[in-house]
Amino acid sequence: MKAYDGMYIGGAWRPAAGQDVIEVVNPVDEQVIGTVPAGTAEDVDTAVRAARGALPGWAATPPAERAARLAALRDVLAARADEIAETVTAELGAPLKFSQAVHAAVPIAVAGSYAELAATYAFEEKTGNSVVHHEPVGVVAAITPWNYPLHQIVAKVAPALAAGCTIVVKPAEDTPLVARLFADAVHEAGIPAGVFNLVTGLGPVAGQALAEHPGVDLVSFTGSTAVGRHIAAVAAGAVKKVALELGGKSANVILPTADLAKAVNVGVANVMSNSGQTCSAWTRMLVHRDQYDEAVELAGTAAAKYGERIGPVVNAKQQARVRGYIEKGVTEGARLVAGGPEAPRDKGYFVSPTVFADVTPDMTIAQEEIFGPVLSILRYDDEEDALRIANGTVYGLAGAVWAGDEAEAVAFARRMETGQVDINGGRFNPLAPFGGYKQSGVGRELGVHGLAEYLQTKSLQF
Ligand code: NAP
Ligand code: MG
Repeated sequence: MKAYDGMYIGGAWRPAAGQDVIEVVNPVDEQVIGTVPAGTAEDVDTAVRAARGALPGWAATPPAERAARLAALRDVLAARADEIAETVTAELGAPLKFSQAVHAAVPIAVAGSYAELAATYAFEEKTGNSVVHHEPVGVVAAITPWNYPLHQIVAKVAPALAAGCTIVVKPAEDTPLVARLFADAVHEAGIPAGVFNLVTGLGPVAGQALAEHPGVDLVSFTGSTAVGRHIAAVAAGAVKKVALELGGKSANVILPTADLAKAVNVGVANVMSNSGQTCSAWTRMLVHRDQYDEAVELAGTAAAKYGERIGPVVNAKQQARVRGYIEKGVTEGARLVAGGPEAPRDKGYFVSPTVFADVTPDMTIAQEEIFGPVLSILRYDDEEDALRIANGTVYGLAGAVWAGDEAEAVAFARRMETGQVDINGGRFNPLAPFGGYKQSGVGRELGVHGLAEYLQTKSLQF
């Protein structure tokens, strides 16, 4: 147990304004592993002022130099990859191998991608008698969740810095330690004072103060749709720009021509990964009625293998919430084929890998984001029925289509109301725009589209 001190503001760790702290708990054994300061509106104000003070200098820094700082940041993160993985494992509970392969490796790749983009992006273009300059939006407020704690921070900080913006980050209260490690990495990479600032604290206090602050030009939020809606309303008051990455209830559509066993196994792995705490997880599996029983059996067998492999969910509240959804699924008439609401261990916030069959589109577990290791398998009659079900939620973040023929899968994917679709198991691409249709969000992260979120245009006519 360690008492971590200070907020990273203006290029140094400074004492917090108040005395309150947040306890960081290891979800595997429920032990308090550390405390961090709970920031207040005063800390937020100091951080926003630091970011505003640093803005003119960073915005005027040549993109090649910003790129060099981002490359240095990537190198520092890469050198500290083991420490990152161990930290995420301690505060999120993710198995160490998964932390290494995903929680550490993905943000390093994303930081690297923005080092390259900053160096190559055309910050100036010509159209007719105009020269269009792509200028930084200004001071960014980033509010991030705990599910991929470093990735969510880097997916905002790297493009913001590449664009020439300065930033204040309020990380999730459950995972502040990797955010602190990131602040140290920023410092080591020689990023100028005030360009990046970190305020740990509670959402309704520090997060709220940051979203409201008049010195902020853009609020970039990732988390629940409920909080996202609230933040968008707060930001609208001052006509701030907002970027929202919200929830999902993505469909994994297995067409009759697909390799059923592969589609089901990859689909189950996708949901169980990170204990189901992935906004883009394919939590609804759609199977043709003629293949339904076979798919259910395959999924039950596959899920059983995850019992000892997956980590806990992040905290007691999340565990209770996920178990509540499992109970609701049973009450509404879905059939349990793996797992269930009982906690599999007496210590730690574990939830059994759970698979439901006979799920109908109107059920709560087919509509709401559960954010735990819970898969719902739905039956469809024909392609039109599958499309109706796939598009039949308020969300539209991700999805998958499997078919014998790639063109058939692509034709179906083009009709889905969602921001990403993986064709026959296509791999995650850190350069592809990530973001939601419908209530899954506003704007896009990653790659060149993610960079554009942090830029605004100025046209000069000649
Ligand atoms: P959340 O409350 O939306 O948290 C996301 C971030 O917003 C955290 O940093 C949080 O701070 C902050 N926040 C909360 N209330 C705020 C407010 N009034 N003003 C400004 N910032 C505020 O998400 P959660 O409670 O951690 O998880 C709840 C559900 O959200 C999950 O079960 C899941 O369905 C969904 N979720 C989605 C994603 C995603 O990537 N789409 C990620 C995480 C969760 P605190 O950490 O102090 O709460
Ligand atoms: Mg919360």
